[in-house]
Amino acid sequence: MKFGFYTLGCKVNQYETQAMEQLLAAKGHTIAPFDEPCDGYIINTCTVTATGDKKSRNAVRRAKKCAPDAVIGVCGCYAQLHAQSAAALGADVVGGSGERTEFIENLLRACSLRQAAVSVPDAMTRRTFELLPAGSLAGRTRAMLKVEDGCHNFCSYCIIPYARGPVRSMALPDAVRAAEGLAAAGYHELVLTGIELSSWGTDLPEPQPLTALISAVCRAAPALRVRLGSLEPRTVTAEFCAAIAALPNLCPQFHLSLQSGCDRTLREMHRRYDTARYRESVRLLRDALPGCAITTDLIVGFPGETEADFAQTLAFLQEIGFAAVHVFPYSRRAGTPAAKMDGQVTREEKADRAGRASKVAAQSAAAYHRAMIGTQVPVLFEQAEGVWYTGHAPNYVKVFVQEQAAQNQVRTVTVTGLCAQGVTAVLD
Ligand code: SF4
Repeated sequence: MKFGFYTLGCKVNQYETQAMEQLLAAKGHTIAPFDEPCDGYIINTCTVTATGDKKSRNAVRRAKKCAPDAVIGVCGCYAQLHAQSAAALGADVVGGSGERTEFIENLLRACSLRQAAVSVPDAMTRRTFELLPAGSLAGRTRAMLKVEDGCHNFCSYCIIPYARGPVRSMALPDAVRAAEGLAAAGYHELVLTGIELSSWGTDLPEPQPLTALISAVCRAAPALRVRLGSLEPRTVTAEFCAAIAALPNLCPQFHLSLQSGCDRTLREMHRRYDTARYRESVRLLRDALPGCAITTDLIVGFPGETEADFAQTLAFLQEIGFAAVHVFPYSRRAGTPAAKMDGQVTREEKADRAGRASKVAAQSAAAYHRAMIGTQVPVLFEQAEGVWYTGHAPNYVKVFVQEQAAQNQVRTVTVTGLCAQGVTAVLD
């Protein structure tokens, strides 16, 4: 049978889609583009913002319209929290943000027996990490490996802990085996990801630090570039930095989630650090790995954020000098404490603050790129884009060359200049 996938959201959701594709392919089924008539469709949904909800619902309607007789399967975080509305939209099979293997079995049963199924266990009852096949059916350039699920931080604006449940970690030997398998399959880069990666190992019968996992994976697959998903500032200690500085194949790019540069706002967000602790994390990383890229996420327009608070955030962005900042206007999520807070900021004000923050972020990114001019970096080439061949350096800066560079090959280049999305270079 032929199945089409539509995936929203984070790297963990993308990883789980790739795993579900593998589960179907292993049973002899084929994966087709979502807009083609298929026997079945899987919409892997997201609920991190109101837009995520809306796009998830629209994708269900699109599949229904494209092939009215096909079996529609809906899973992921939106379905986890809104299973009945997913079913009401016309989904035949509804699963949540976990139990992906069972979801695929229910989907295949629905295809053969025309039997609908809604199976969405309470996320808060989950205790075990679901092992899924790693790697994708498509290219062999960069693979994601989900090593952690769930979150117990309950930041006041975030719905994810309710959709994903408590922290569950992949056992270290399983992660090592998966990394070895991906290296043997020809991948050049592996991204260790999770819902809250910094919590990896805290739930294991014998708790382990994240550095144990990172070191084991890097040493098990020395030919792989290993990149880390989003980290919390509390993870970055002197011990953490000493451990990672000893790993030559760990990519020097750290996505250190900030969310606000104002201490009062960070407290209202229930974030577990202040700007002083964040600054210290950045200092430790830059001391241990000079020139490393610090990237981040920022929420603007959090309830109660005043112009003065926001000015502190802009000043902090300038001070740190991020290589990249993902700017998000605050999205009110029903069921979170922040949704009930006074001082909700208008859509116009949020858009204005997002524009100003993006401007500061673009200046810092350009400064970071400018410092790369004249340096030599190994680039993992991924694709042709018009007259350019593009890939990423270990610091995750996008590199553009004009000479032919084969996909999924690492080549050393000399950086020659700046461009809109990164830097230009010539092959050495
Ligand atoms: S750390 Fe905070 S923002 Fe991240 S998933 Fe957990 S609750 Fe959400």
